[in-house]
Amino acid sequence: APDQRWEMRLAPFSDGRRLVHLSDRSGSHAAERMRVDFVANASHELRTPLASILGYVETLADTAGEDPVTRARFLKIVFDEAQRMDRLVDDLMSLSRIEADKYRAPASSIDLAALVDRTQQELADAHDGRGKDIILEHDPGEIMVQGDAAQLSQLLHNLIGNAMKYGRPGTPIRVSITRADDMVRLVVADQGEGIPPQHLPRLTERFYRVDPGRSRSIGGTGLGLAIVKHIVERHRGRLDIASQVGEGTRVTVMLRAAGSVTLPIDAPGAAV
Ligand code: ADP
Repeated sequence: APDQRWEMRLAPFSDGRRLVHLSDRSGSHAAERMRVDFVANASHELRTPLASILGYVETLADTAGEDPVTRARFLKIVFDEAQRMDRLVDDLMSLSRIEADKYRAPASSIDLAALVDRTQQELADAHDGRGKDIILEHDPGEIMVQGDAAQLSQLLHNLIGNAMKYGRPGTPIRVSITRADDMVRLVVADQGEGIPPQHLPRLTERFYRVDPGRSRSIGGTGLGLAIVKHIVERHRGRLDIASQVGEGTRVTVMLRAAGSVTLPIDAPGAAV
């Protein structure tokens, strides 16, 4: 592979023979490339709204600022772009906080059913009109998972938020929670436009979008699913995204039921 990098070391034995030790360094090289790309992408994503703000403020300071209609229109653009930067910085900070917690398994027991009820209410209040499309089904009683309440709430907001953003208006968004042995299965399914199969493996990459223009115009940062992936990894769970173009998307998250044995993050079976 073009990225393949080997490091060779020679270990001499006293009898004159030598042992050749080859180590594969491609992994760290790829990680370094990803980090550099991430900083470049984040800077670009921040610079775009910033350039627009600078441009409009400059024009406002000029004669354009004298006409009240133009002024109101330009101020609205400046406000929207500043909000976009705010969302981006929020998501970037979430991502780095979750990554910093990576090796500390979440210790609290959380009632996922109650958390979904609350998230549904919050989303219904924030997007009046669309909240009624969320249909929640769960096994009766508490459904306890081992987790971090704030992170699981963010996971739900991102997944249900995507179903609302990319779902077809008027179609239901089904959220279900079921117990499965020592795991709990959370499914968020929409009947939206769906995702072409070639994009599926890359959706959880930072800033990866199927339709960048569309995502930006509806306020997406391109970080939502990357955040979801990191939250699932920290919870030693599993994430699966399945989709049919024209029919909809179904995201499944498997979380550990409270009281189940916690595996270290690099143990077999803990991979996402
Ligand atoms: P964004 O902020 O752009 O929504 P995400 O990381 O949440 O970023 O999602 C990445 C991309 O995956 C989106 O831009 C969109 O193209 C696609 N996507 C995510 N969820 C859905 C969904 N439920 N239906 C269709 N496409 C989706």
